[in-house]
Amino acid sequence: MTDTMIRTHKKTLANVEIVSRLCKGCGFCVQACVQDCLAISKDINERGYNYAYYLGEGCTGCGLCFYSCPEPSAITIIRHPVKRDP
Ligand code: SF4
Ligand code: SF4
Repeated sequence: MTDTMIRTHKKTLANVEIVSRLCKGCGFCVQACVQDCLAISKDINERGYNYAYYLGEGCTGCGLCFYSCPEPSAITIIRHPVKRDP
């Protein structure tokens, strides 16, 4: 099974927004994510850093990336609303 296939079957519970211009490309968030749903871009931001980005699926909203980031406001996690039975 490839990495892509594994990602496809992960349940996505949240979305991650990373402000690329605030990112210094340290990679702490990428290392912290146990779901492997963050990566460092080959492109650079206006400050000259390769910035982190969300791969688009698989986030559980655990918050590890947020707490590992040294840049205030660079990472925002938006958890999807939990659907409850009526
Ligand atoms: S909230 Fe957790 S699962 Fe989502 S990107 Fe951050 S570290 Fe990964
Ligand atoms: S931890 Fe923060 S500064 Fe470092 S790569 Fe991730 S978003 Fe960028």
